[in-house]
Amino acid sequence: RQEITDVLHQLGIKEVNPAYSTGLEWGGTEGRTTRDILSPADGSLIASVNMATAEDYETIVSTAQEAFKVWRMMPSPKRGEIVRQIGEKLREHKEALGKLVSYEMGKILQEGLGEVQEMIDICDFAVGLSRQLHGYTMHSERPQHRMYEQYHPLGIVGVISAFNFPVAVWSWNAMLAGVCGDVIIWKPSEKTPLTAVACQHIIRDVLADNDLPEGIFNVIIGDAEIGSLMANDTRIPLISATGSTRMGKKVGEAVGARLGKSLLELGGNNAIILTENADLEMAMNAIVFGAVGTCGQRCTSTRRLIIHENVYEQVKERLLKVYPKLPIGHPLDSTTLVGPLIDKDAVKAFQGALKHVQKEGGNLLIGGDILEGVGYETGTYVTPAIVEAENHFEMVQEETFAPILYLIKYSGDVENAIELQNGVKQGLSSSIFSTNLLETEAFLSHWGSDCGIANVNIGTSGAEIGGAFGGEKDTGGGRESGSDAWRIYMRRQTNTINYSRELPLAQGIKFDI
Ligand code: NAD
Repeated sequence: RQEITDVLHQLGIKEVNPAYSTGLEWGGTEGRTTRDILSPADGSLIASVNMATAEDYETIVSTAQEAFKVWRMMPSPKRGEIVRQIGEKLREHKEALGKLVSYEMGKILQEGLGEVQEMIDICDFAVGLSRQLHGYTMHSERPQHRMYEQYHPLGIVGVISAFNFPVAVWSWNAMLAGVCGDVIIWKPSEKTPLTAVACQHIIRDVLADNDLPEGIFNVIIGDAEIGSLMANDTRIPLISATGSTRMGKKVGEAVGARLGKSLLELGGNNAIILTENADLEMAMNAIVFGAVGTCGQRCTSTRRLIIHENVYEQVKERLLKVYPKLPIGHPLDSTTLVGPLIDKDAVKAFQGALKHVQKEGGNLLIGGDILEGVGYETGTYVTPAIVEAENHFEMVQEETFAPILYLIKYSGDVENAIELQNGVKQGLSSSIFSTNLLETEAFLSHWGSDCGIANVNIGTSGAEIGGAFGGEKDTGGGRESGSDAWRIYMRRQTNTINYSRELPLAQGIKFDI
């Protein structure tokens, strides 16, 4: 407990935390409903937060609108310098913030630290990007004309984030949008607001050191109601929302109705294909990390294992040897590999899914229990489950945000496995293990995996920030982080300049007055 108290102290977390911040100042300290944040690790009250009101929301939006007028005037590499300093501050606080991520969300410390490392990496990426926000130049069909395109800042970017990556997803959006010249309003998950409060404390000093105004990096603590205000607000040209497909459909509809832009990062139903040419030794670590890492609460968690019939029994046997030995426990304990689920509702959903899939004919091989006794008093620790199932089962078609791995047998060519892999509504991450070039290339081809992420000989989870991250179909179609994902945070403008003394029209049209 002392360790946690020190961490909270270092990160500026109080017993009751204000409802919003416009960067430097905090507001909403009194007279609001509060929400207690309990750690899924041991059930302790970490701290409480005030929940923002609709008036608080108005204050933030109007402050952000004013800040945009200042921030967009700063050259992009200078904005990059601010993001560089944020990255440095995150480096200083990596250990403490990583611990808080772990304690508030329940992921193991290594993953908590990894999440903060991702934030640092995206800061570095954004610094370089700040000198490269480039468009194309095109040759004009008209003589002595020049045509090019440029990218301008959008305005306010609203970021709605999920509990399972409480801080990294914000940084992917905020650091890129920041160098692009946008101002950001972040609504973190109501389940994990303290890490957001901590991030805001971390960047506050950078804003103050650089004499920046209020309103560039804002945070608002609230639930779906605040999220819905954002989605419906025409003053916010882009909403980036990460969470369930259910939420994404509502947000996408609201933003679409006002013809705003949305970037949706929603649920996955990710599969690994194991062909008979797979290096099983290598595959095993990827499968287990993918299925039980973060206790199955990653959007890229491995949910389905599509195994060739010739290696099916062998794979099953190996998994059944590993699963009973998985160290399940407190996420801050360095020997733990599997932490708790976020709350009791998640435990209910886990057990409900197992019951349902068994009714459909699924064969539960191992797991599915709630752990009890010393260290497990919260009722949020479960034993990861493996179920033999068929791809068309209702439960296999759904994303259950918990450690359930479905084993699905296929026979014949890799095309059959690819058809199963693609045969779900979601399209986030996918992977194949095979040492046969024909199989791996088929998987990567235009008739192969239909997901936004397709990996060969690595698992479905654990993406790097350099690539564009996101998925198709019910996953929402958005792309964040690396490659040219930055473009969504800017508006594109095509410019044609005439440096002749004539006024020729395009397409040779004659129009003489
Ligand atoms: P959730 O949908 O319950 O909540 C996500 C966020 O949306 C929260 O901040 C919540 O307050 C807000 N929200 C909920 N309803 C809303 C509404 N009607 N209008 C506006 N905002 C609303 O998701 P969760 O349980 O926090 O996270 C788990 C889900 O997130 C999983 O489905 C997971 O796959 C997905 N996820 C996807 C990615 C990705 O990049 N594709 C990354 C992380 C998590």
